[in-house]
Amino acid sequence: MAEGSKGSKDGKSAVKGGATGVKKGVKAGAKAAKGVRGEKIWLDGELVDWDDGNVHILTHTLHYGLGVFEGIRCYKTDDGRSAIFQLEPHVDRLFASAHINLLAIPFSREQVQQAILEILPANHLDEGYIRPLVFIGSGAMGLNPADNPIRLAVIAWPWGRYLGEEGLENGIRAKVSTFARHHVNAKMTKGKTCGDYVNSILAKREALLDGYDEAIMLDTQGLVSEATGENVFLVRNGRLYTPPLPTVLDGITRGAVIQIARDKGIEVIESPLTRDELYIADELFLTGTAAEVTPIREVDHRSVGSGTRGPVTRLLQSAFFDVVLGRDGKYDRWLTRL
Ligand code: PMP
Repeated sequence: MAEGSKGSKDGKSAVKGGATGVKKGVKAGAKAAKGVRGEKIWLDGELVDWDDGNVHILTHTLHYGLGVFEGIRCYKTDDGRSAIFQLEPHVDRLFASAHINLLAIPFSREQVQQAILEILPANHLDEGYIRPLVFIGSGAMGLNPADNPIRLAVIAWPWGRYLGEEGLENGIRAKVSTFARHHVNAKMTKGKTCGDYVNSILAKREALLDGYDEAIMLDTQGLVSEATGENVFLVRNGRLYTPPLPTVLDGITRGAVIQIARDKGIEVIESPLTRDELYIADELFLTGTAAEVTPIREVDHRSVGSGTRGPVTRLLQSAFFDVVLGRDGKYDRWLTRL
């Protein structure tokens, strides 16, 4: 998941300011980050005050980007209780990401789950976004951090609609990025690795600076891969298509939407997609923990279908919100109540 629901503002100031505007954009980003503030952070096994959630400048991950993370949402369901969506799959993916990157998390799955369950109440929040982050602490520098401590933080903050309320209803404008998604043997796509997101940030900022809301990235063969922090879906003749897993993150929202669609009798096909198939789609949408289910109304100045949220997207979006808000008992197993 990438940062910045404040992104378009960031992008706008950079457009205005030209080359120096990029600096302005960076400043705006720093300000936006200041806006995230809570009471407690879970750090290395204990809850510490927000202002004590700091690390040393020699923190290895800060220098070389090797760390892994998750993005999880907790919703206040209709019965008034809070529920984490797909807790276990997120914890499993965190451990898988760490395993891929040879990082041994010094806590058990149960301890990590417990930390995730604790972090919202510790911050007096009943819904929000939860960010577990595994990182390499300070010690040796250079590219063999074998003896450095592996550390774990769990942070939570309120997070509204990642691509905006208006985007959720009427769709966003996307651009096919000039940046290719990593080759599978350069970046392993099954892990959420911190450094991989440099590629996403470059694409996201390019899209914002060019006046779009989001970037869709092609893989190194030129096939549609994913957006900067979301999976991509296409609707054509009533069928749902999405790129297969090799070059994309195995998105937990992607999996949920595929399941919901199939249960509704919609055929779902995981198939390589070309850029022009995006242009001639009846509908397009993105899925992700942060972005939830967000329609795309335009790609590269071509309107998608009717140019607004289409009927299949609307159906799946409302089914998704029924699930996360606890209105659909059929998928109650996906919710862990606090
Ligand atoms: N692709 C990328 C690159 C992502 O960062 C994310 C966000 N985690 C997704 C797809 C969507 O995954 P999920 O639905 O599990 O949040």
